[in-house]
Amino acid sequence: MTQSDLKARGAGNAVLERHAGLRIDGARMIEELELLGEIGADPAGGVTRLGLSAQENAARDFLRDRCGAAGLHVETDPAGNLFARRPGPPRAPGPVLLVGSHMDTVVQGGRLDGAYGVIAALEVLRVLHEHRVDLPVEMVVVAFANEEGALIQAPFWGSRALCGSLENPLDATDRAGRPVSAYLTESGGTPERLADAVWPPGSVAAFLELHIEQGPSLERHGVPVGVVEGIVGRTILDIDVTGEAQHAGTTPMPDRRDALVAAAEIVLATRRIAAEDGVCTTATTGYLTATPNVTNTVPGEVRLSAEVRDTDPVRLARGEAVLREQCARVAAASGCRIGVRAAMRSRPVSTAPPLRGVIREAADLLGLKHRTMPSGAGHDAQIVAQLAPIGMIFVPSSRGVSHAPGEDTLPGDLVNGANVLLHTVLGAQAELGRPGGHGSPSG
Ligand SMILES: [Zn+2]
Repeated sequence: MTQSDLKARGAGNAVLERHAGLRIDGARMIEELELLGEIGADPAGGVTRLGLSAQENAARDFLRDRCGAAGLHVETDPAGNLFARRPGPPRAPGPVLLVGSHMDTVVQGGRLDGAYGVIAALEVLRVLHEHRVDLPVEMVVVAFANEEGALIQAPFWGSRALCGSLENPLDATDRAGRPVSAYLTESGGTPERLADAVWPPGSVAAFLELHIEQGPSLERHGVPVGVVEGIVGRTILDIDVTGEAQHAGTTPMPDRRDALVAAAEIVLATRRIAAEDGVCTTATTGYLTATPNVTNTVPGEVRLSAEVRDTDPVRLARGEAVLREQCARVAAASGCRIGVRAAMRSRPVSTAPPLRGVIREAADLLGLKHRTMPSGAGHDAQIVAQLAPIGMIFVPSSRGVSHAPGEDTLPGDLVNGANVLLHTVLGAQAELGRPGGHGSPSG
């Protein structure tokens, strides 16, 4: 899909126009979010519903019950992903419009991260079913298993399984060494049939994910809808600074090679790359240890990890290059030896411009202001982008809090977001159903 494809859709979006007055049942969705939030409610605060744990299984049971009550058909795949669709044979065989998110949380996380995107997708499918709205491209709801990777150290487990990009999946364990296969069996998955969880190329016309922003931007701007333009890529550099451990009282200042002072310069330079020079979106030093870390010795060695993020691969690479230059500058000025090694690189992912256009049209139809923005956090959508064009919608997070008990969004914003999702599903039909478009198996 390209911008010109979007223009080619023209004004005639019959599905959207016919159902412009359709709305989700906001009270029903808010109630279901509250009920789901009780599953894994942590006595110490927030929700602890780790991927593939008994709590995530209970969440899947809850979703299965709700779908059953709505007359929807539900199945779980070998990786523990849950899918819901309308009963009966697909009206038009071919690629489907996949919509959803995840239901697992971090330890003492919030009740909305992931869960909102799944419950809202269920609500949209249920409303379409109740109103017998015929979609040329079938909508399928997905609840991906273990997105956070908080218990089993394999984040994006379910979406990677669907895309066929899990690496040595059965080697994954929890921190105590219990294998993922044991958890997966308890979750209704089938470890020996993981390969059957893979969807072939052409089977997904597009993937839509509605999510809380997890940052302060929408609330700060007073805008209820975020149109995500891309999900950031990230490069983590491990940096070793080697100076010389010496006596803090007897070593004259000019004779020192203080590794911690050199590291401090790197910390400040890292911040400057994003905050002052705008080379990339964010630049952070999140980890630092000094050796020997005693009061009366000049620090001889420091290990730190710095990371840069951006949605643009060129800016991301430039962020890394500047960080490396700064390390070389500090090495030359301090007399310390500084080693830099890339520990992790993930590529930025773009959402499909035509789907951004459809999301904006949906928000306009509902009279909601919207704002185009990047996602600084990772999402299942960035994995599904390997298989299909993706679209992402954000709603505001109160005070930007997420992955914490204080995670919250105003009920009105939650309802607005779900209505935008509904009209995005309707509005995308013209784009996805078009012969030769990305929605066709050959596209
Ligand atoms: Zn999430």
